[in-house]
Amino acid sequence: MKPFAYERPVDVSSAVTTVAGRPEASFLAGGTNLVDLMKMEVLTPELLVDVRHLVSRRIETLTGGGLRIGAGVSNNELAADRRIRRRYPVLSQALLAGASYQLRNLATVGGNFLQRTRCPYFRDVTMPCNKREPGTGCAARDGHQRDLAVLGASDSCVATHPSDMAVAMAALDAVVHTVGPSGERSIQVNELYRSPADGPERDTVLERGELITAVELPASPVAATSRYRKVRDRASYAFALVSVAAALEVRDGSVTEVRLALGGVAHKPWRAATAERALLGRPATEANFRAAAEAELAAAQALAGNAFKVPLARNTIVSMLRTLTEEA
Ligand code: SF4
Repeated sequence: MKPFAYERPVDVSSAVTTVAGRPEASFLAGGTNLVDLMKMEVLTPELLVDVRHLVSRRIETLTGGGLRIGAGVSNNELAADRRIRRRYPVLSQALLAGASYQLRNLATVGGNFLQRTRCPYFRDVTMPCNKREPGTGCAARDGHQRDLAVLGASDSCVATHPSDMAVAMAALDAVVHTVGPSGERSIQVNELYRSPADGPERDTVLERGELITAVELPASPVAATSRYRKVRDRASYAFALVSVAAALEVRDGSVTEVRLALGGVAHKPWRAATAERALLGRPATEANFRAAAEAELAAAQALAGNAFKVPLARNTIVSMLRTLTEEA
């Protein structure tokens, strides 16, 4: 690991000013992904600005029934919160599907959104990778393709986003709150991530020095009937080949509300808006679930090594909606 300096600023404003003004500086919260990447010299910040003590570790109930989650809340604290387990079970299940108990104790909600891809070529500094070093090429296209994206990829990068939590947040219409050099702003999780076609080296729309301070979950009665399912190569401590976050309301046999997002298939949590539109108002039958999943996946572009993800995603969506219909 290359030597680096460490600072512990007294407030958010100084942390933002420092990172905004120094291209070689980086925020540090739980550090569970950043420090790994520093050890491999994939990332080499010269200054780490510790913000863990500056961002809230509280989960507050909002007027109207939503929740505001401080960016410093740990993944385990959020998964265990009784309000999350009862009103947003998909989020608790997604968090518990990620990493290990020890990592979840350290990892923060803010940092979870900003995890870097686990594409093996991104993590190997001897290989070409447009995300790590723009313009060098993409070793994954002709390499190991099993984990790559089938939706929204570009010629320059086919990597997938690794977060389970963010998939559930996307399905729940969560909103991220930030403080940056230009002040405060709110960003829908579904708008947080950039297309790899616009330059894969930047994962999100956040500006240099912009810090995630909280995330808000809107009140959502349908979220009480929600689930997360993660399909992966082994039962724990593995990233999703395909995952599905879903919430469903069925009345008189028809779908009256539905939320659907996919993980492991794109550079970001993939909100399945086409499938949602295809389902709304239609009878909650397996045939309609299958047709909706196929409509969503019609735009999929697979490589030889990840083509299995298309039927896997379709079948996981159908199976999840069937389960939720039985529960509803
Ligand atoms: Fe790099 Fe993206 Fe290609 Fe992986 S898929 S090697 S992250 S450019």
